[in-house]
Amino acid sequence: MAVEHEGRAMFVAGGTDLFPKLKRRQFEVDTLIGLDFLPREIHTGSTECVIGAGVTLASAARDPHLNDQFAGYAAAAGLVSSPPLRNAGTIGGNLCVDTRCNYYDMTYEWRKAAGFCLKKDGDICLVAPSSPRCWAVSSSDTAPMAIALDGMVNLTGPEGERELPVAALYRDDGIDYLAKRPEEVVTALRLRTSSDIRTAYVKLRRRGSIDFPIAGAAVAMRLEGDTVIECKIVLSAVASYPLEVPGAGAFLKNKRPDGETIRQTADIAAKPAKPLDNADLNYYWRKQMVRVVVEQALQLATTSRGGSMVKLLGLIHP
Ligand SMILES: Cc1cc2nc3c(=O)[nH]c(=O)nc-3n(C[C@H](O)[C@H](O)[C@H](O)COP(=O)(O)OP(=O)(O)OC[C@H]3O[C@@H](n4cnc5c(N)ncnc54)[C@H](O)[C@@H]3O)c2cc1C
Ligand code: SF4
Repeated sequence: MAVEHEGRAMFVAGGTDLFPKLKRRQFEVDTLIGLDFLPREIHTGSTECVIGAGVTLASAARDPHLNDQFAGYAAAAGLVSSPPLRNAGTIGGNLCVDTRCNYYDMTYEWRKAAGFCLKKDGDICLVAPSSPRCWAVSSSDTAPMAIALDGMVNLTGPEGERELPVAALYRDDGIDYLAKRPEEVVTALRLRTSSDIRTAYVKLRRRGSIDFPIAGAAVAMRLEGDTVIECKIVLSAVASYPLEVPGAGAFLKNKRPDGETIRQTADIAAKPAKPLDNADLNYYWRKQMVRVVVEQALQLATTSRGGSMVKLLGLIHP
């Protein structure tokens, strides 16, 4: 169907992101292809955990195995949006969710009055008018954690099935942000099982519920004794794709994660983050907060097997 209706159809899973965007005419298609048939089970084997793309965020957040093995991943799913939307929104939809921008996530009338923008109906970027590209922000909470865990996605399309590292699913482009072919469906997320992995996700948002991340850090690390032998850090909401910061993880390798090394790692991780003035709160302040969320995620991962932490800092924003 997707091939037959090329460019005029979209897939719909939970519809929690897609339906509001259809109403605001950010998406204009004449056909929706329902993905109700996608698997809704979580299978745990000896080497990997397979999460069906149709699993809801709420089910993933409360799944005992995910909480035991990948606490940071379950936490990230549990921090998406609000309870009703987590009951409908899916793991596949969260991996494919649209990038966001204050100038784009607006009503049709607002966008029209502003003259539209590159991402939809216009021909310049309102955030960076001299830029030839769109800088809309990757805002998925679970994608950074799936990348930190070296997750793989299964894709099914007209040419059959294939698998891809989650990291390779994204492009650094606010418009064409997915590297999969438009007619391919994400059918599952696969995470490698490991007894000694520690994970944590820290999300910064304005309110206690509903809000998208304005900065976030996903950490997956392994320790031998009190020494880090592997560490991956991926940032949310600071680029058009989940931004991995390999230099920061490499810095912490073979070191004891104490206050000082964690602070130094967070400084390195924050450097590549370049938030623009197109999301909630002040972008200069958001840049400073990246270092803070990384530091907190590293502390969480080090001191426990990892969970979530959500910061509600809108009220003390300068
Ligand atoms: C008020 C509000 C707050 C929100 N807050 C957050 C938040 O804090 N964090 C966050 O991450 N998200 C947030 N969201 C976005 C959304 O609710 C989630 O990202 C959710 O996981 C999307 O999943 P879904 O199944 O509803 O996707 P849908 O809305 O059905 O689809 C989203 C996109 O993915 C595509 N798609 C869906 N499933 C697949 C698949 N299996 N294969 C290929 N393409 C697919 C669709 O075509 C569409 O482009 C929020 C949305 C709203 C309205
Ligand atoms: S970054 Fe620019 S082009 Fe992209 S949605 Fe925002 S204003 Fe539009």
